Amino acid sequence: MPRTSRPQSYYDDIKTKFKEERDKRLTYRPPGTAQYTSELTGELDKYSTDPWRKEAPRREPINDQVEVLFIGGGFSALLTSGRLHERGIENIRIVERGSDVGGTWYWNRYPGAACDVVSYDYLPLLDEMDYVPVNHYSRGPEIFSHCQAIARKYNLYDLAVFGTTVTETFWNEEEQLWHVKTDRDDDMRAQFVICANGTLAKPKLSLIEGMNKFKGHAFHSSRWDYEYTGEHLEHLKDKRVGIIGTGASAVQIVPELGKTAKSLTVFQRTPSSIDVRDDWPTDPNWARRLQPGWQAKRREKTLAAVEMSPEKRAELDALTPEEKVRRQENSNINHMMRIHKRIDEIVEDKATAEALKPWYMFMCKRPCFHNEYLPTFNLPNVTLIDTQGKGITEIGERGPIFDGVEHELDLLVYATGFEVQITGIYNSIVGVGGQNLQDKYADGIRTLLGIHTSGFPNLFIMGGYQASFQFNLTDMLQTQGDHIAACIDHARTHGYQTIDATEAAEDWWVQEVIHHRGKTSRSEDCTPGYYNFEGAENRRQDGNYNGGFRRYFQHQGEVRSDMAHYFHLGKTKGEAL
Ligand code: NDP
Repeated sequence: MPRTSRPQSYYDDIKTKFKEERDKRLTYRPPGTAQYTSELTGELDKYSTDPWRKEAPRREPINDQVEVLFIGGGFSALLTSGRLHERGIENIRIVERGSDVGGTWYWNRYPGAACDVVSYDYLPLLDEMDYVPVNHYSRGPEIFSHCQAIARKYNLYDLAVFGTTVTETFWNEEEQLWHVKTDRDDDMRAQFVICANGTLAKPKLSLIEGMNKFKGHAFHSSRWDYEYTGEHLEHLKDKRVGIIGTGASAVQIVPELGKTAKSLTVFQRTPSSIDVRDDWPTDPNWARRLQPGWQAKRREKTLAAVEMSPEKRAELDALTPEEKVRRQENSNINHMMRIHKRIDEIVEDKATAEALKPWYMFMCKRPCFHNEYLPTFNLPNVTLIDTQGKGITEIGERGPIFDGVEHELDLLVYATGFEVQITGIYNSIVGVGGQNLQDKYADGIRTLLGIHTSGFPNLFIMGGYQASFQFNLTDMLQTQGDHIAACIDHARTHGYQTIDATEAAEDWWVQEVIHHRGKTSRSEDCTPGYYNFEGAENRRQDGNYNGGFRRYFQHQGEVRSDMAHYFHLGKTKGEAL
């Protein structure tokens, strides 16, 4: 981001506006996450029903033993399975709520679904699968197919159970095994359990008065009802459609609805920042020239991210902490003002353009990239209802009510996001001595690398907090998958029954997390959203490791190079405890 010579008062004024917009939002909505529900039962049950499989197939409860069991069948499980297979570990079971693998890409099949991370980096195991994505950015169906192809290649379908939700996972000290219970009365045993359930897996709804009164059709963005809309949204040409939410999902859905619906009304509480997102087909000549191992080389480059030059480091070191923060903030504001300028250039109606401008620092919310989102608001059938931070708080029989006006709709799409799984687990997990993991975390998350937690031997958590954050999530998941596979392999090849982080190792990591989170109050100053737990206070250790991806990767390596130091390794039954 370029530095400019604008006076500091320019930036200070914008910061004041950021604060006003944030405070306004905090006063309008109930505190923290209480404004949402992800308990979609009773009248709300229809919002979580799997549209891809109406009824779970009947089967007998399973009562057997596998070596490795994954809770969840998304990328975490798939890419880790690849690494386990390379090490000869094949007795692998995926337990998955959906009726296929794919996780996010199984559920999110809304029109326009695509990934904002370059496909050659995002799709894992491209070397192993001998596959080159068709475009620079992959669309949802291609990613979902890639997930299925991985499952086929590594025979993961053989032992997988679908339409099954894990309810309880407990450590049997006598057997030195995990028992995994499900909503299908299964009692499966596994030596190693990997929580691979994703962090944004449960759809959530904003609790809006009267939402059950609505007489039209309604669903959540992650449960798209193509029976109603038609495969190509052709049934919407005579329908009045509304969408609540303007986050990353809505940004991809809105252009598709704008093109097809008779009318589209977008109900906005906080605008997203929308940047350019050009896409193009993969150059076949480039693809042909790729040498085996090309993706691994790309990943190495990511991990070896360029270090700051000594001159740049010296320049920064010469600044006071206040100057450093100011410099960062000013360049962040420059970036956001470029986002504003782009809106002015694209959106024709001045009032709509103003309403679409995000007033917060870049990265307070998940940045979005789309070339068609902003032009959609120039279409005659598309209306933006900007609630100016209030949000929709009431729905009547005919549709959402704002400022005393009931907006009559045939279809209402809730693009209101997903519950954030802070601990990385969804079910009740009980470890050594009957300790529940939620109880252990009651005073703050305690892990080693965000992956291991002491007293829960042979349990691994993927994608949870206390791990590094990466915009390309699969980069992070792949380092975790590599690490977990290496840990399991170490236990196996040395004949250890169990591997359990020591308390000292855990103490070290918790302090590392706290140390690196203490630098700024950026997150608290941000407009509310799921990145900052809706503006709620949270304990300093309940978040990502902010020491950088490379350092996180290096720490993983250090841990693996001295297993006996970081883990209790139990050779035979009971030795680890
Ligand atoms: P988000 O949580 O990002 O967005 C939810 C939206 O609903 C926000 O705009 C929120 O407003 C709005 N909202 C909630 N309640 C109300 C209300 N009562 N009235 C009006 N608006 C309301 O969910 P998404 O599903 O969009 O995205 C979740 C995440 O999934 C993304 O951040 C991203 O990580 C991932 N994703 C990635 C994609 C990609 O690669 N392109 C595509 C889709 C998702 P407010 O901001 O005010 O809270």
